[in-house]
Amino acid sequence: MVTIKVNNLIDFVADVFSHAESSPEEARRIATYLTTANLTGHDSHGVIRVPVYVRWKKTGNVVPNQTAEIVVDTPSLAVVDGRFGYGQTVAPFAVKTGIEKCRKAGLAAVALRNAGHIGRIGDWAEMAAAEGLVSVHFVNAAGSLLVAPFGGVEKRLSTAPYCVGIPRAGQDPIVLDFATSIVAEGKVLVASRGGKKLPNGALIDADGTLSEEPSVLYGPYTPDGPRDHTRGTGAIRAFGEHKGSGLAFICELLGGALTGTGATSGGRRFANGMLSFYIDPKVVDTSNYFDGEITRYADFIRATKPVAGVDQVLIPGDPERKTRTERTANGVPLPDDTWAAIVNTAREVGVSEVSIQRATS
Ligand code: NAD
Repeated sequence: MVTIKVNNLIDFVADVFSHAESSPEEARRIATYLTTANLTGHDSHGVIRVPVYVRWKKTGNVVPNQTAEIVVDTPSLAVVDGRFGYGQTVAPFAVKTGIEKCRKAGLAAVALRNAGHIGRIGDWAEMAAAEGLVSVHFVNAAGSLLVAPFGGVEKRLSTAPYCVGIPRAGQDPIVLDFATSIVAEGKVLVASRGGKKLPNGALIDADGTLSEEPSVLYGPYTPDGPRDHTRGTGAIRAFGEHKGSGLAFICELLGGALTGTGATSGGRRFANGMLSFYIDPKVVDTSNYFDGEITRYADFIRATKPVAGVDQVLIPGDPERKTRTERTANGVPLPDDTWAAIVNTAREVGVSEVSIQRATS
């Protein structure tokens, strides 16, 4: 395991993307969002993605320095075409559009289509919450056929995340943010690179056997070689039985079909689609009741008597807050395999040995 200081990691990853045709601003944005995923404990959506992003750039799957386009524009609704630009560039544009419309109308919807990987959806909920807005996001990952629906053994869904953010007065927002699969694909990636093991039965093989072995998804792989989910015989399972599988289906329909990105199917270009709703609580809550009631209810939930082995019942956002505090102070831990794969990619795009050495100083 190597531990990298937060600023060093951002500088290093920004250097990689600067060498991969992104402008300095875009390179730093990608680096900052990826590092934030690590800071919040979602290593699956952190800097482990550097090799695959650079591979996608080389194959033309993602376009550096792309400008998103507003293709439908009404006072309360927009459709934004990301034109396969980096998610870290086109998603903030879409969220900013939603924030501006919501400020004026009290309620807004934005359909983002054809975005490169938009990473941790919690980032977008946090961006809206920082402006005092509630937001709800239905997302799919078209082209990323990974998940078996309830009762099935074949990949038919993406990991289709769902996310809700609620602003708090003078506090961190409440953010519920999860993949609708038992684990996000990145967690299989992390496990395959020597990181945290998968929970029991997270995967299902073609014959219906439950498994925690990443090769069920990727087929045989080498420690620092690429991972290809089209090579394995199995799938990730949808979470929550028929209910989670149903929510994943809805994310495919709203985040995928309605945005124009398309619901997930095999053999097509990767793109995230995201349908987001924004609500201004100040417009709804004229008697200023909401925030105090959240405090009362969150305290009530946290005070639940825990089951054996659990210290305290948490609310959404608590685990991320704790990890962010720890890692901001101590740095981001990365398994050796993960770091080796990132460094290989950095060398491939021409990052200097001095910069590589500096990252671990
Ligand atoms: P996860 O299983 O870690 O669940 C995270 C959510 O559960 C958070 O809201 C967290 O606060 C809450 N939580 C965790 N432990 C808790 C506890 N003990 N008590 C109460 N709440 C708790 O997340 P995941 O499903 O692995 O998703 C990881 C990330 O992957 C997310 O940020 C998601 O947006 C992202 N993702 C992105 C894509 C994409 O295509 N861009 C696809 C899938 C997932």
